[in-house]
This record gives sequence, structure tokens and C-alpha cells, in this order.
Amino acid sequence: MDRRQRRRNFELPQNAEQLKGYRALYYYRAFQYLFLAFTLLIFTINLIINFDSFSVTTTLWGFLTTITILVSLLINQSLLLEPPSKPRTVPTYLSISALLNGILFAICVTFISNHLEFNADHTHIEMLTLVLSTVLILHVASLVLLTHYYYVFLAFFVPSLISLLSLNEITITQQFTVIDFASFALYGICLVILGLMVYRRRSDYYVLVVNNQRLDTDNTLKTTEIDLLNTELSAEKQMAINIREELETNNVLLEQKVKQRTSDIESIHAKLERSHQNLEMAHETAGIASWDWDIAHRQIETSNFPQIFGYNIKNMTHYLTHLNDFIHGEDIDHVKTQMRRHLRGLDERYEATFRVYHPTERWIWVHDLGSVTQRDPVTKKPLRMVGIRRNINNEKKAEESLKLSASVFKKAAQGIFVLDDKLNYVDVNPYYLNLIESTEDQIIGRHVFDILKSSNIDSQRLNLTILRQLMSTGEFEGEIVEELQSGREIPLWMHINGIRDNHDKITQYIGIVTDLTERKASEKRLSYLETYDTLTDLPNRTYFNNLIHSYLTESPKLLNRFAVIRINLDRFRYHNEYLSHHGGDELLKKVANRLRRNNPDAVVIARLNADDFAMILEIKEDIEEIKDSCKKVLESFEAPFHIQNKELMLNVSIGVALYPEHGRQMDSLNNYAEQALLEAKRIGGNTLRIYHNENRLSTAARINLEAEIRRAITHQELSVYYQPKINAHSQTVHGFEALVRWNHPERGVIPPAQFIPLAEETSLITDIGRIVLEQTCSQIKAWENMGFADICVSVNIVVQQIQRGHLVTEVDEIIKKSGIQSHQLELEITETSLMENISEVREVLSDFHKRNIKIALDDFGTGYSSLAYLGMYSFDIIKIDRSFVSKIGQANQDAIVRAIIAMAKAMDKQVVAEGVQTQAQYDFLTAEGCDFLQGFLIAKPMPSDLATEFLEIKRLDQNAHRI
Ligand code: C2E
Ligand code: MG
Ligand code: MG
Repeated sequence: MDRRQRRRNFELPQNAEQLKGYRALYYYRAFQYLFLAFTLLIFTINLIINFDSFSVTTTLWGFLTTITILVSLLINQSLLLEPPSKPRTVPTYLSISALLNGILFAICVTFISNHLEFNADHTHIEMLTLVLSTVLILHVASLVLLTHYYYVFLAFFVPSLISLLSLNEITITQQFTVIDFASFALYGICLVILGLMVYRRRSDYYVLVVNNQRLDTDNTLKTTEIDLLNTELSAEKQMAINIREELETNNVLLEQKVKQRTSDIESIHAKLERSHQNLEMAHETAGIASWDWDIAHRQIETSNFPQIFGYNIKNMTHYLTHLNDFIHGEDIDHVKTQMRRHLRGLDERYEATFRVYHPTERWIWVHDLGSVTQRDPVTKKPLRMVGIRRNINNEKKAEESLKLSASVFKKAAQGIFVLDDKLNYVDVNPYYLNLIESTEDQIIGRHVFDILKSSNIDSQRLNLTILRQLMSTGEFEGEIVEELQSGREIPLWMHINGIRDNHDKITQYIGIVTDLTERKASEKRLSYLETYDTLTDLPNRTYFNNLIHSYLTESPKLLNRFAVIRINLDRFRYHNEYLSHHGGDELLKKVANRLRRNNPDAVVIARLNADDFAMILEIKEDIEEIKDSCKKVLESFEAPFHIQNKELMLNVSIGVALYPEHGRQMDSLNNYAEQALLEAKRIGGNTLRIYHNENRLSTAARINLEAEIRRAITHQELSVYYQPKINAHSQTVHGFEALVRWNHPERGVIPPAQFIPLAEETSLITDIGRIVLEQTCSQIKAWENMGFADICVSVNIVVQQIQRGHLVTEVDEIIKKSGIQSHQLELEITETSLMENISEVREVLSDFHKRNIKIALDDFGTGYSSLAYLGMYSFDIIKIDRSFVSKIGQANQDAIVRAIIAMAKAMDKQVVAEGVQTQAQYDFLTAEGCDFLQGFLIAKPMPSDLATEFLEIKRLDQNAHRI
């Protein structure tokens, strides 16, 4: 685009115009100062050159010009200070002022040329040069300073240029040439063109300046904007960073939270799983099954059904349908009604107890509980129902059992009470209330002993015993006599048992009380019949023997010394026959009464048999008092008896044995008393005899004998004699009984009766027993070696051996040492030994039994409870005492022996008869089925060598018989 066109298109902006005006004013002011300087120069020149002719005009001009310049400067200054509102004011002012300056300059030049014309001297050229230089300077200055507006430049330039033509006058002498004019014209044209060019450059410059300014402003604005934007951007960037960091932090937190949540969810899940399993287990353990009935979709889900009920209802579509198949016919209506009521919303929940069929347990009781969990919001129809079913069979059974217990409790024919842990009554049954004559209100909450009178010290002591026993063992059982508040005493059998909780702490006591009043009465009656003689009302033989037994065995001893007194009526048989049966009985009654009346100090007076009476008297000081008492008995019979209007004179014989002088065993004492009685009878009756055994040893003799036995044991003076026992049926030797003998160096062979009783009282019996066992067993082995293999030897033992030694181990050792078979050895124990320590003896005997060692009950029939022993212990053999055997052939005695044999057979026991002395006895016993026979008839006890001979002879006999 060319400049002209650009100018056309480009209209100067207002502020550019103002800037140009402003600059033009500044430049013009400079031009004014220059023009003022020119004016002052002119003045100066005027003064120097020719003041007179020139000065007036010049001075006028000078003044006028100076004033013009000053006025112009003032206008200029005011315009600078306050820019004019009209845009054309400045160029107009500048044009006018420039024109005035041009005119004034032209005038000045004209003056100067006129002056030079009149003063053509040597200074002429110099002046001209000066003027031209001045003109040139002003022209150049106008070119530089006035070209903001072209016409302002022209306003000054044109008059000033024209004024130069006046200089032609000066050249009269030196006329202008064409060249001069041409130079003048060229100069003028050049400056006009230059002025135009400068003006245009300037105009362009201002446009550029303004544009620059605008651009600058724009630039500044843009920069500010950019800065603002930058600030905003960096703020936003920072914000973005912050947000990013925040986001990252949040992300991390979120991740952590997610992890946390995941772990929480997992743990909750695990917990839920555990809870679920626990619940299932609890359900299973508690016998609970759950069901979930989706009524809308006709589906039923169950858990634990097969385990608990043995069936499942999974494929059922309706809950009630399955019940038809399993439920008990009697319960079905109830269940259906309950279910329907709940489904219709009549009941808050469904609950039913009924029986279902179980494949193995038949009918079991179950409890069903359910509830609708979802209903149609509009129609209210049930959509879903859940519930549980529980096996309550055990509870039902427990309930029934409780009912039964309650009924037993109420109706029991025994008193039952329940106490708390402090022994206060909690519950009692009617029987108990009736028994203790109380009402429920009177005893519930009261202490067990409070309701009793317990007035005497014994009942208080008993209460204390019960209390102590309950505290220590939690149990009390025993017979007691309670004194009721009414003062009545009742015998009771009371059993109180502590009921313990899981920590083994007693929480309650249950007591069962049996009223023994009836039983006591009947026991009393029975015991009376058993122990009393109904004819005379005196204790009988059993009572009498039991009493002696208790005095002998109990510790501490109630009686340290006593006399066993046997009293027998002389010639009673004669009186009895005379008085007839009734009279005899009456006589016996009167005898009993007389004995009772005259012997108040007697411990007991008993009727043993027919006319046999007995008495026990305590010996307080010496035997004389016993004698006196017995004499009084004899004297009391001096008075006659009146029976059936008959007067009878009766005498008695008395035999006395003393404890402990004559013996320490009941049998011995009875025997000795009987012997003394027989002695009294033998010498004619109506007299008293005290047992006196010449052979009995004094204390000193006993001590001496004990020492001698010890010596005998160490000197091996004891040997075993063997008495054969033969088989009653085959007449072969069954074996022997080992009987100890003492080969005294001075007194010869001493029988066991003389040293065994003393040995029994000391530990010597153990040593003797061992010696006999050892000798016997080695003898059995010796016989076995000789070819007598089946020989069986019995050894006597006493209970002291069992108590004092270790008999079983001793026998084991000896059998082992000798090398015999245990069945080759038999043991004999006498009835009298068995009276004490029943359980210990029973245990030892059963140990022997286990070892295949047979046990024989020796001297059977001599004790006072022979039959009882048979039941108590397990014997294999019964040895009939020789006292029975010796009486075979006498009235009733045969029957006794026969009965013993029959009884032994019935009990599957072997029978040995000892003391067989006659062929009659032999035949009788064989005929009755006695298994083995022993006695002098067969052989006396003999030393081992003779026993061996006996065996050999018997073997020879046997062989001879066979041949
Ligand atoms: P026992 O056990 O009843 O022994 C049988 C006793 O009767 C033996 O007396 C025996 O000689 C005797 N006897 C056997 N047949 C007849 C007969 O036909 N007529 C008569 N009158 N008597 C006969 P022994 O040997 O004097 O023994 C007496 C008691 O001494 C034994 O009675 C037994 O209880 C005891 N005894 C013997 N040896 C021992 C022993 O080693 N230890 C123990 N603890 N007591 C023994
Ligand atoms: Mg014997
Ligand atoms: Mg015997």
C-alpha cells in the first residue's frame, strides 16, 4: 500500500493530533526564542553599525517583534498548560503567529537590505553574509521546528523567502543574474519540498508514536493481563497441585479405608461365618432345627431336620402338607389351627407342641415356633414365614419324670424332706409332716434340728454327730431316735444326702426318713422269740452265748472277771413225768422265777435247755462271793414248790467256770462249767462244783512253757505226725491230717493240746504253723517221689495265724519251694477260730480258694453258729466233730450225723468224719455217704516213716485185692 492511500485510510487519532499540537507548541516556543535571539542580534548589529539612520525603524521593529514574540510565547505557554478544546486552535494560532514572524522577519530583511543599500561600504558583504546566514539559520530552524504543520512552515517560510527578493536592491551594483535567481528559486523550492517531506515524516512519526503508545499501552495491559493470568495460572496450578496432593492423600486414605473395610468385612464375614457355624452347632446341640417357608414361591428350606427328626421337608411346597405325613394323628388339628390363626393374623406368632414320627425313636415331642416375616402390603397375605423346631422329647420325659417324682414325693410312704445348704427346711412331703406331727407352716424355713425337742444331752450329741458328718462327707445315714416337740420319741432310719452343683458345692440336702416304730416293735418281738424262752421268759441259749461272746470280745471289757454258772435240776425227769407235761412246764416257770428273784445281781439268768439253766455273775473281788451266791441259790431251793396242789421238793446242781482263770473262749467256759456241773451231779447233786483242772498251768508255768516252746522251735523238737484219711467208698488212702507233736527231750512226745493253746495266745503259733507246713509239704513231695502221687495232706491253721502272719504268701512260698501241686495241700480251720474278724478271714480263705487249696471246717457242730459259718465262708470240706461220731448209735445222734452229711451233700461239699473208732461208726458213715473217714479205727497219728509204711502196706493191699 502506498503512503497516500495509507494516509487516506488512516485518520490520525485524536490523541496523536493532540500530541502533534503539543509538540508543535514546544518546538514553536523554541523557534520563538530563536527568533527573539535573532531580534536581539539585529538590535545589536543595529547599534554597532549605524545607530542613527537605522535605529528608529529597527528599534520600532525590534519592539514590535519582541512584543509579538512575547505575546506569542504567552499564548503558547497558556496553550501548553491548558490544551484547547478545539483541535484546530493550535494550528490556527501557530499559523497566525508563524505568519506574523515571517512578516516581521521579512520586514527586518527589507530594512536590512534598505539599510545596506544606503550604506554600501566595506561591511556590505559581511552584512549580507550575516543576513543570509541568519535567514538560512531561521529557514533551517523553521524547517526543523515548524514543520509539524506544513502550512505553519509555509506561513513563516514564504514571507521570509519573498523578503529575500529585497536584497536585489543591494545588487544594483552587483545585479542579480539569472543564475542568482535560479539559485534563489531552487533554494526556495528545495526548502518547500524539504518542508513538505519533513512534515510528512513527522506526521508519520506521530502516527507511529501514537500507535507505539497504544501498542505500549496495549502491551502493558496485555503484560498486566498476562501477569494476572500468570498469577491466576500459578494459583490455579498450585491449587491443582494441592488438589492433586489432596487427591493422592485421599486416594491413600481411601485405599487404606478400602483395605480396612475389606479386612473389616472379611473379619465380619469370618465372624458371621463362625457365628453361623456356632449357631448351627448350637442348634444341632440343642436339638433345634430351623425352617424358612417362602409362601409366595412355594418353597421350604430347612436345616438340621434330618439329624433331629430323621426326615426333611425340603421338597414340600406347603408347610402344613409335610405334617400330614409325620405328625401324630392326635396333634394334627391343633397344629393346623395354630398355623392358620397365625397366617390369618389372629395370633402374633405360631406356636405348637406336637409329636412327629422319628424312624428310630418312634414318636418324639417337638416344639414348633414361627412367625410371618413378610406380608403383601396391599392384601396382607403372608409371603414368607420363618421358624424353628426343637426336639423337646427329653424335656417332656423330664417333665413327666418330674411329675412322677412330685407324685412320689407327695404319696411316698416314707418321709422326704429337702433342706437348703444351711439345713433349713425347703420342702417336705405329707408323710413327713404327719410323722413329726407338724404342719408345713411350722417347719418350712426352720432349721432341721429346731423342730425337734432335743431336750437331753444324747439327742443333742446325736444332732452334733449328724451335723459333723454332713459337713465332712455330705451324707448321713443311720438309725436315730428323735424326740418330738410333743415329747414322743420315734425311732427313725434317716438318710440325708447332699446334692452338689457343678463346682462340687452342696446346694441342698435331701433326706429320706423311715419310721422304724413298727419295725422296732416286730424286731423286738422277733428278737424276743429268738433270744428268749417263751415258757419262762428267760433269755435262751443263743442270748446267753451271745452275751458271753460279747463280754469276751468287746473292748474295753465291760466285765473283767465273771463266772459262768450252770444250774441243772436234780431228777427233773422224774418230776416231769410225775407232774405231766403242763405241770412240768409250770415247775420250770416257778424255778425260773425263783432264780430271778433270788439273784438280783446276776448279769443274766438264762434257760438253755429243758432243765438247764445258766447264770453269769460278775466277780468283783474274789471267788468266795461267787460261792456265796451259788450257795444262796442252793438255799433258795430248800423251800417247796406248789404245783397242781402238790408240794414238791427240788434240788439243783451247780457247775461254775471262771473267766479268765479257766479259759478265754466261750466254748471252753461253757464246757468247763458243764464239766463242773456233771461233777456236781456225779457226786450226788444239790451241790456246787467249781471247775478245777489239775493240768491247767499257773502263770509262772505258762511263762516257763512259752520259753520252752521257743527253745523247742529253735532246737527243732517239733515234728509232724500224720493220721490217715481213707476214702469211705474205695477204702484207698485219700491222705493224712498233719498233727504237730513236740518231742520233748525229757518228757517225751507232748500232744498239741498242751502247747497249742498257749502258742495261739502268742506269736509262736505262726512259727509252729510254718514248721508244720514246711515239714508237711516236703513230706508230700517225698511221697510223690516214692510214687504216692495222689496224697493230699491237711494242715490245721488257727485264725491267729491269719491275723499275725502273712499266711497266704507263706503258703505260696512253701508250695513253690517244695515243688508240690497246690491241690495236694488242704487247710483245716476250727469253727471257734472263726468268731472274730469275719471279713479278714473270708478274704484269706477266698485267696486259698483261688489257689485251688481246699479248706475244711474242722470240728463242725461244736460252735454255736456252725450253720452260719457255712453260709459266711466258702468251705470245700466239712469235718464232723468226733463228739458226734462217738455218739453214733445213740438216740437222735444218728439223725444229727445224717443231717450233717445230707446238708453237706446238698451244699456240694465233701464230708470227713473224724474220731472213727468203731466198725459200727465206720459202717454207718459209709452207708450215709460220708466221703472220708479218719480215726483210731483206721490209724492213730504217726510219724512220717510209719505213715510211709502205712501207705506202702495199703498199696500192697490194694495190689493184692486187684490180683
Ligand atoms: P483236730 O484237728 O480235731 O485233730 C484231731 C484230733 O483228734 C487229734 O488229736 C487226733 O489225735 C485225735 N483223734 C483222731 N482220731 C481219734 C479217735 O478215733 N479217737 C480219739 N479220741 N481221738 C482221735 P491231737 O493230735 O491231740 O490234736 C488235737 C488238736 O490239736 C487238733 O484237733 C488240732 O485242733 C490241734 N492241732 C494239732 N496239730 C496242730 C497244728 O499243727 N496246728 C494247730 N494249729 N493245731 C493243731
Ligand atoms: Mg483237724
Ligand atoms: Mg477235729
